[in-house]
Amino acid sequence: MESWISHFTRRGFLQRTSWFSLLGGLSLDLHAANNRVSGKGARLAPQKIYEKLGIRPFINAAGTYTMLSACIMPREVVAAMEEASRQHVSIPELQEAAGQRIASLVGAEAALVTSGCAAALTLATAACVCGTDEGKIRRVPDTNGMKSEVIFQKTHRFGYDHAIRNVGVKIVEVETRQELESAISDKTAMLFFLNLADQLGKIKRQEFAEIAKKAGIPSLIDAAADVPPAENLGAYIKMGYDLVAFSGGKGIKGPQCSGLLLGRKELIQAAFLNGSPNADSAGRIGKAGKEEIVGLMTAVELYVRRDHEAEWKDWERQVSLIGKAVAGIRSVQTERFVPEIANQVPHLAIKWDATALRLTKEDFVKALREGEPRIEVRPSSPTDPRLEIAVWMLQPGEDRIVASRCAEVLKKSATAA
Ligand SMILES: *Cc1c(COP(=O)(O)O)cnc(C)c1O
Repeated sequence: MESWISHFTRRGFLQRTSWFSLLGGLSLDLHAANNRVSGKGARLAPQKIYEKLGIRPFINAAGTYTMLSACIMPREVVAAMEEASRQHVSIPELQEAAGQRIASLVGAEAALVTSGCAAALTLATAACVCGTDEGKIRRVPDTNGMKSEVIFQKTHRFGYDHAIRNVGVKIVEVETRQELESAISDKTAMLFFLNLADQLGKIKRQEFAEIAKKAGIPSLIDAAADVPPAENLGAYIKMGYDLVAFSGGKGIKGPQCSGLLLGRKELIQAAFLNGSPNADSAGRIGKAGKEEIVGLMTAVELYVRRDHEAEWKDWERQVSLIGKAVAGIRSVQTERFVPEIANQVPHLAIKWDATALRLTKEDFVKALREGEPRIEVRPSSPTDPRLEIAVWMLQPGEDRIVASRCAEVLKKSATAA
């Protein structure tokens, strides 16, 4: 029987024409190097990788969810990663140069590419606990004798705070400004703010940064999903946060396994020492390679240059296109909304009378997921009867497909009911 690899390679060779038209001439494949070495000189061909694995890709009407593979990178980002993949470089040199470039683009003193926002939280915490002290860097998560407390507002506790706890710190919960000020001691390593929870806590983001500054304790804000708007890239540094963490694979549309830590130079340097490529460090598990570093840098370059107004208008157009397609179906109502923090882009919510149409939200989600093409919508609370659609991760033309599939499912239920 023909081997799996040779099957790939032969098919690849035969199908190179369609591959090139698909990816605009990028040679983006592991087999290319092998082909070159073996003298076949074959260019690349579509691998139909997901199909071969029996995985059915979907149209992403959900948003930038890690579970759903986050975003599709712009072609320029993929091209930059591919170029970066062809030569060896020193990772510390690359991190420094890319960090400087990113920092100058967003208006920060320094920047570090991490393997995600969660990794940025770990590195930031380790930087505040260990600094550049080699002994401490080696010893954490044993923080005995170190500054080892991180102060949170109670309402800012969240799943990703595990990334902070990984450094061996104790989280101290407070609710009011007074509690915060009296919780600060010589054990305090860092003050943490979750931007997403701004409305839930008594202390708002600006005030929180000011308290930290006054006390001389480094502050970190998690702003993972908070671009767009583009101004947010530099806003929290300006507000006085010492460290700011973003996801690279969300609105910035960099590699899914990338994140950004911005901040004060000495803290960013310490963050770097507390992670990869330094083997004996708490952050070593979150490795950013040359491809991610160059990919995220390129994504940030593209992002700051993008015509954000035109992009916004296009999202509005898609929201209204899908809304119009379902309007007029029995009992159906639509609503445009923009989340106040995180994923701040136009979305569509579809409401209908579940009894009249004999269609629950779960049925609707299932029909879209199991249909052809497969469509994933925004995960929402089971108690919220509305179906929510995000348009910002749709690829060109997919708005019409989502519109007609939604209309189809609703109409079918309207007819059957
Ligand atoms: C997505 C997210 C993270 C994790 O980001 P990664 O880049 O996937 O590591 C952390 N915090 C918040 C608020 C997020 O939304």
